Amino acid sequence: RPVCECNNCYSGPDCSSSGLIVLLTLLGFGDPLFLQPYWRRHAEGSAVVISGWHRMSYDADGRPYMTLELERHIRLLHKLVGNAAAEGKQIVFGAGSTQLLNAALHALAPDNSSSPSSVVATVPYYPAYQTQTEYWRSKVFEWKGATAEWLNSTEASTKDFIEFVTSPNNPDGRWQAPALAGSSVIHDRAYYWPHYSAIKSPADDDLMLFTLSKITGHAGSRFGWALIKDVKVYNKILQYIDTDTLGISRETQLRALKVLKQTISQIKKREDMFRFGYSQMRIGGLNSTPSSPLPTAFPCRSSPQTYAWVKCERKADEDCSSAIRAGGIIPRAGTLYGADSRYVRLSLIRSQDDFDQLLTRMKALTAQ
Ligand code: PMP
Repeated sequence: RPVCECNNCYSGPDCSSSGLIVLLTLLGFGDPLFLQPYWRRHAEGSAVVISGWHRMSYDADGRPYMTLELERHIRLLHKLVGNAAAEGKQIVFGAGSTQLLNAALHALAPDNSSSPSSVVATVPYYPAYQTQTEYWRSKVFEWKGATAEWLNSTEASTKDFIEFVTSPNNPDGRWQAPALAGSSVIHDRAYYWPHYSAIKSPADDDLMLFTLSKITGHAGSRFGWALIKDVKVYNKILQYIDTDTLGISRETQLRALKVLKQTISQIKKREDMFRFGYSQMRIGGLNSTPSSPLPTAFPCRSSPQTYAWVKCERKADEDCSSAIRAGGIIPRAGTLYGADSRYVRLSLIRSQDDFDQLLTRMKALTAQ
């Protein structure tokens, strides 16, 4: 075969030699490219064409920026999947849920407190909670590390805590609940969807974040939303988005609407995106269990792993990142997640090629 027909992983006249590109397999990023084959199959039904005159205004449907139709479909999707109680809650759109993390902190931190609120999460936690909080150096909140450090602290009673709770958790897939009594909580529900997790019951927390990146895999569109119970919190999050970016790109909203509409229309068929995603994760290898049937309804019994949370146990002070890199795999260091250097995270939701490379290299590494 000519070189140009080889995929990203191989080159040469018969596509059999691994070139520079595969010297290191990039498994640090949680890019859900495993869903791309599904969207290729539905290329026509998910295509978006936008005429030059369309959606030019700052406004959408007479509202600041959020189109009603998209909001309606988000509510419908939650209802059909049964993962969140959206009725009676307000919705705010964000540029990915990344923008909403900081918006939510601003909304929950009291303006009139004499000291900044303490932002915490349970180890291992998603790194952006710490990096964003530290980066913005807000006067009303500051990063205060792991919840474990505050559990038995006498100082804790003098502080206002804002806790990030991710369930299922990134990186280790654990179900989590708030650790500190009385804390204000931001529930990050990025992975509470049927291809990553069993859907136990509709989540009904005061402030929940979701992202298109993990649902349909459209991480590049940068679209997420918050479901909010309290009107005051809603107004503050809305004010943050208005001040920060004056809303979310209308083009992004149109694309989100298209892929969510397509997702919804396929749910009753056996070929829908969630079943496709679930079966991909099962077939993958690390996740494979004997005779795991496709779920007939969304409350599937076992959850596939989205990431591998790996511990190197050869030495007490092992730098697991270097050990894994030596095997040609780029992980994300466990230290970014508040854990020690014996841990790394590997993403299992990238493309099939990435996954196959991971298996080959891990086998070679463990055989050494
Ligand atoms: N929360 C968690 C737990 C995540 O893993 C991610 C993405 N990796 C995000 C939030 C942010 O997602 P995005 O900004 O793409 O919407």
